[in-house]
This record gives sequence, structure tokens and C-alpha cells, in this order.
Amino acid sequence: MCNHFDVIVVGVGSMGSATCYQLAKRGVRVLGLEQFNISHTLGSHHGGTRLIRQAYFEHPSYVELLKAVYPLWRALESETGVDLFHQVGALYLGSPDCELVAGSQLAATAYDIPFQSLSPKEVEERFPAFRCPENWVGFFEPNAGFLRSEAAVAAMAQRALEAGAVIRGQTKVVSWKSDSAQVTVRTETDSLTADRLVLCGGAWTGSLLSDLGVALRVTRQVVAWVWPQSPSDFCTERLPGWAIDPNPAGEYRGIYYGFPLSENPLGVKLGWHAPGLESQPDDVDRQVHQQDLEWLPGFSEKYMPRLGSSLLGATTCLYTYSPDGHFIVDRHPRWDNVFFAGGFSGHGFKFAPIIGQALADLALDNSTRLPIDFLKLDRRAGEFQH
Ligand SMILES: Cc1cc2nc3c(=O)[nH]c(=O)nc-3n(C[C@H](O)[C@H](O)[C@H](O)COP(=O)(O)OP(=O)(O)OC[C@H]3O[C@@H](n4cnc5c(N)ncnc54)[C@H](O)[C@@H]3O)c2cc1C
Repeated sequence: MCNHFDVIVVGVGSMGSATCYQLAKRGVRVLGLEQFNISHTLGSHHGGTRLIRQAYFEHPSYVELLKAVYPLWRALESETGVDLFHQVGALYLGSPDCELVAGSQLAATAYDIPFQSLSPKEVEERFPAFRCPENWVGFFEPNAGFLRSEAAVAAMAQRALEAGAVIRGQTKVVSWKSDSAQVTVRTETDSLTADRLVLCGGAWTGSLLSDLGVALRVTRQVVAWVWPQSPSDFCTERLPGWAIDPNPAGEYRGIYYGFPLSENPLGVKLGWHAPGLESQPDDVDRQVHQQDLEWLPGFSEKYMPRLGSSLLGATTCLYTYSPDGHFIVDRHPRWDNVFFAGGFSGHGFKFAPIIGQALADLALDNSTRLPIDFLKLDRRAGEFQH
């Protein structure tokens, strides 16, 4: 194998597989290096499914990227013939002024995203799996849904390979250096060079970019699969993707979220979206303990009484929080030929193809027309206040 490439991408997970694909498609000689398999269960993209939505409560600045990413997911599906995007809608429940509902409404109104407001009675009639407290509302986003995450990573890697990329699994990058003209990447067995380097290391971004001193926090997250007491209420016809914000206004501490009943992995998947136990990515407690899921029976009784808590399975997965909970996508401040994307803070998967496009633009042209300025490294503290 030739040891010099136009671009080396470190990490072929969600963002790295998308970047390899975008670069290879443009005729660039790209090498993707992945320490594990393509895909795998030790990073941030496993567990079968990820929510995709546009009424983005986290901040309206993401909406333009979300509008641009939908056609990219559809194109990937038609190129590969693999079902990736299940547009079954998503329902958000909470008090009218909680972060999830008010933030979704703000983004939907500003960007003309279709939605329906539902009373608690309408929620329970239309989606019988839920019990909706009287002073809450339902916000239904019909164009939302879920993605098949491992299948999507595999599909992006496959398209990259078909377009001429070289991808090496089981190859850990131990160091890299740049002299602005060329980068040298050292793996456990050899040394490779390229004109440009893109770092997409997920939970390992902190060590790949240790020179930047960005405080990235890796947390251990647990998701569970449950066999529901009334399975027909949990199939895609009666249950969309969903999220529940149990907090009062101004006191956001996290949300419950989940998916309709699936066959693989079997069950109704659900989790709690808030920082879990802070961990080192190479030393994560992968065992699921009883206390990880002690919220499940209480949750079920209160908000999904027909779910029950008959556990089929559970797994751990990693979030990588940036200091403000928003992504960081930028050029390295010291090296003109090094680019990176990290800190996806538990909500990045849906963006993968568009982040791949932005990184390919940056690596080839030093700039992109995509609206990613708000994700630059040196943003002001407080930039994301609504
Ligand atoms: C439980 C859970 C639920 C989530 N739910 C959603 C959701 O509903 N919607 C949503 O949009 N997002 C969701 N996310 C977040 C989303 O999955 C992540 O933001 C996204 O997968 C991050 O992509 P990444 O490329 O940064 O990380 P990864 O996909 O983990 O890829 C990083 C890759 O880099 C490799 N790597 C690192 N260092 C090296 C090295 N030195 N050498 C070689 N390879 C290296 C890793 O092995 C890994 O494969 C969820 C995440 C979790 C954990």
C-alpha cells in the first residue's frame, strides 16, 4: 500500500465514515484509520437507532444543517438500497414552557417546520402508550423519525470504499504531527503521511487534540430494551420517536427518550439523556448494573403505564460533552492542514453526512459554504443562549 495520501481521516465512526465518503466521492485519495471495527460497540454509534428531528430545542442555529442533511440521508439510502431513515414522526411531551417543548416550538416557528400541538387527551387518544399529565402539552413533529445507526456507518464506509477510499480497521493511531505542508500519522505498526488530516475521534478526541486543552467530558450512558405489556400500542403505527421533559421551566436536567418497538435489537428502546458517569474512554465500566436502570419502573408507571419494566437488554454507550454542550467543528488553530469535529454531546448522529460534507470542504478548500461558523472552537461563552 502507498504510504502517502491526500487526506487521512482518524476515526471511522459516525463523522469519520461520512468524511471518508465525501472525500472519496470527490476523487481524493483518502485513508480512514479506525482502532476497532466498522462499526463497533465501544464508541458512540451503537445500539441500533438514533432520533432525527428538525425542530431543534437545543438551538435554532442547527436547523439549516438539519434541513440540508435530510436529502443526504435519502441519497445514501438510494445509493446503497439500505433502509436507514424511518420517518415515523416524533412526539415531545412536557409542560408548555419546559426546554423541550418551548425550544422545539421556537425552532419550528422560526424555520417553518411543520408541527402539531396536542392536548393531553389528544396525545393519549392518538398515542395510547403515553399518559400525559393534565398541565402538559404534546408537540408532534411529523417529519422527524429515527435512523439505523450501525447500518448508516456501514453504508457510509461502503460508499467510501466503492469510491476508492482505503479504510483500515483495527488500526489505532498513536500520534500525529504536522509541519503545515504535510502530516505524519503513526499507528501501532507503521507511519503514514498525507497533505491533510481530519480528526473524528469521538470519545477519544480529547487525547487526539490534547494540545488544544479543550475540556471534553466523556460520560457513560445506559440504554435499555423492554418488552411492552401491550405490544400493539408500541408499534410504529401507534408510537413515533419520542422525548419527555419532566422538568419545570428553567430547570432543565435531562429528558427521557425512546423509539417504537423494534425487532433488532428486540424491544422498546429507551434512555435518559443527561450526563452519565464521567469516564475515561479506554476504561469504561461496560457492565450494566441494577442501579443504572432504577428509574425505569417509576418512569413507566408515570408516563408509559402499558410499557412495564420487563427488561430484555441494556448497553453502555459514550457521550462526549463539549463545555457548552454544542459541537466543535473547525480547523486546528495552529496547523492549517489539520481539521477536527468533536464534542457532539449526545446529539450528533443525525448530522453525520452534513458534518462529513463540511469537513471535506474544509480539508480541500479551507472553507465551507455550510453554516457551521456557530460551531467554531473559539466561540464566546453564552453564544447559545436562546
Ligand atoms: C446512548 C446514545 C444515544 C444517542 N442518541 C442520539 C440520538 O437520538 N440522535 C442523535 O443525533 N445522536 C445521538 N447520540 C449521539 C451520537 O450517536 C454521537 O454524537 C455520534 O455518534 C458521535 O459521532 P463521532 O464520530 O464523534 O463518534 P464515533 O461514532 O464513536 O466515532 C469515533 C471513532 O473514532 C475512533 N477512534 C478514536 N480514536 C482513534 C484512534 N486513535 N485511532 C483510530 N481510531 C480512533 C473510535 O474508535 C470511533 O470509531 C447518542 C449517543 C449515545 C451514546
